[in-house]
Parts: sequence; C-alpha cells; structure tokens
Amino acid sequence: LAQEHGSNQYVHYDPATQDQLSRRLRFESELLRAIEDSAFDAYFQPILNLADGSLHGFEALVRWQRAGSMVSPDDFIPILERQGLISQLTWIMLQKSLVRHEEWLAAGLVPSSSRVSVNFPPEQLQDPALVGLLRIMLDNVRVPTCRLKVEITERSLVSDSGLVQQTLQALHAAGIEVALDDFGTGYSSLSMLHRFELDNLKIDRSFVSELEHSEQAGSITRAIVGLAASSSLSTTAEGIETVPQLYHLRSLGVSYGQGYLFSKALPAEDIPRWLREDLPRLHGLFQPG
Ligand code: C2E
Ligand code: MG
Ligand code: MG
Ligand code: MG
Repeated sequence: LAQEHGSNQYVHYDPATQDQLSRRLRFESELLRAIEDSAFDAYFQPILNLADGSLHGFEALVRWQRAGSMVSPDDFIPILERQGLISQLTWIMLQKSLVRHEEWLAAGLVPSSSRVSVNFPPEQLQDPALVGLLRIMLDNVRVPTCRLKVEITERSLVSDSGLVQQTLQALHAAGIEVALDDFGTGYSSLSMLHRFELDNLKIDRSFVSELEHSEQAGSITRAIVGLAASSSLSTTAEGIETVPQLYHLRSLGVSYGQGYLFSKALPAEDIPRWLREDLPRLHGLFQPG
C-alpha cells in the first residue's frame, strides 16, 4: 500500500486496499481471541465400515462461528498455520472431541471399537514432545490413547522425515493409528508409504466425485486400494455423495467411507439422534443384492 511513484516519493494509500487490510487485521485478531477462549466447536462426521454399514468412528472437524455465520476452515487454518497457532487448535479439538466421544461410549451409543480422527498440521509432527504430551492430556481427561486416530497430510511427510518417522513410531507405540489424508493429491511417492508407519490411506474426494464420469478416477482409486493392500493399509473414501459412488467404492474393496450420503459433519448434540434414526436407515444400502 505504500507505493513509490517515480522520483517523487509519495506514500500512496489506496483506500480499497486500506479497507481490506483493516478487515483482515480484525479477522486475525478475532481468530486469536477465539484461540485464547477455545471458541471453536468440534463437529463430527460419521465414518462407516463399507463392508456392512456399521459405525467405524468420526472425523472431528473444526467449526468457527463468527458474527453469526460459519467461517470455512479453509479460510482460517492457513492463517493459524502462518501465525504458529495451529497446534493450539489441535489441543482444543482433541479435548472437545474425545471427551464428547467418551460420553457416547459410556452411554452405549457407539461401539467400543469407535474412534475419533483428528487432523494434525505438519509442524506438530516434528515435535519430539508430541506423543508424551498427548499421553498426559488424554490421561488427564481419562480417555485411552487408542480412541484417537491422527490424520496427517502428505505435506507432513516431505520435510525433515527423521523427526516425523519418530513421531509416527511413538504414536503407534501408544496405540494411536495414523491416516494419510487427501491421498493422491500431493507428492508422496511409493517409497514414502514404506518409510513411514501408516495405517490408513484416505482417498481424496476429488477421485470419489469423478467416479461416475471418468474411468481414470476409477482406475486411480483401484490402484490406491491395491497399493494400500500391498502395504497392509486400510482405505477410507472421502466425500461419498451418491449411491452409485458408494457401490463403486464397495466393489473396489474400499474399507471405510464418509460423505454427505451418510451425513455431513454434525454438532455433538445431533449425533445421538443421527445414531438412533439415520444410521439404521442407511443399513438398507449395505444389504447384499
Ligand atoms: P479434510 O480433513 O480432508 O476434511 C474433509 C472435508 O470434506 C471437510 O471439510 C468435510 O466437511 C468435507 N466433506 C465431507 N464429506 C463431504 C461430501 O460428501 N461432499 C463435500 N463436498 N465435502 C465433504 P471442512 O470441514 O470444511 O474442512 C476442510 C479442511 O480443513 C479439512 O479437510 C482439513 O484439512 C481442515 N480441517 C478441518 N478441521 C480441522 C482441524 O481441527 N484441524 C486442522 N489442522 N485442520 C482441520
Ligand atoms: Mg481429515
Ligand atoms: Mg481429507
Ligand atoms: Mg480434504
């Protein structure tokens, strides 16, 4: 916004840009306050076992209500990452989602095999103290470590792999499974799948949404499932929206799935009703024949 014009050194304030800047600063300071106040909600998107339609668990997804409307995580997660605040969001999400999930287990609403998947940013996997801190935090809220699944992205696997390898090993030693999110969109190579201890590949929504229109999406998905199987990994399809997509993914042998066909991410208070009313209705989709 401060621009030099030729030799006369005007400092030029563009009113439009100025306005944008102040809006952005306000957004960022509200975001900072939301972190300080833990003013985020954990929403839950159910993940089903595609073999039989039983509940596998939930993905915890952050929601931020600002001035009465919901801000997309894609609009504030990158800011939190840039400001070095993203790991604080992880702790907020862990606490909120796992404590809630434990109540559902205690009430017999979900099977004892149910797990909560939490998204972890790349930088946090480079912290040698992470798994120790996780153990302490989960112990404090009386949640067994095995209830947690960690979702990481391919971005986590490119930098400083030694530290990340150690973190993944320590997670496994603590009984915490690891899923590679948005698989197929990034840069990971076959060798990475062997170098890092992973349990699950999440097939990116972009492949699932193309299944009905593109044969290539089908062959890529088939290749990912084969690759996963040969590395003893399970697979999860993201973004299942239609019945044909579900049937296609089942026929390819994809282990788990999530998407609007089953449910969007719901606030915790809506989950008991979804389990009681919607989940049994979905079972019809999984009957043989
Ligand atoms: P993700 O981890 O890949 O999460 C899946 C995203 O796909 C979620 O978007 C979910 O609402 C959306 N989704 C699920 N099923 C469908 C479907 O059938 N159709 C469509 N169109 N979308 C579907 P959301 O909640 O907006 O989150 C976007 C991304 O933000 C996440 O992608 C994740 O990368 C990040 N994110 C969300 N919550 C957290 C968090 O607590 N911590 C961190 N670090 N990142 C998070
Ligand atoms: Mg995820
Ligand atoms: Mg994903
Ligand atoms: Mg995604």
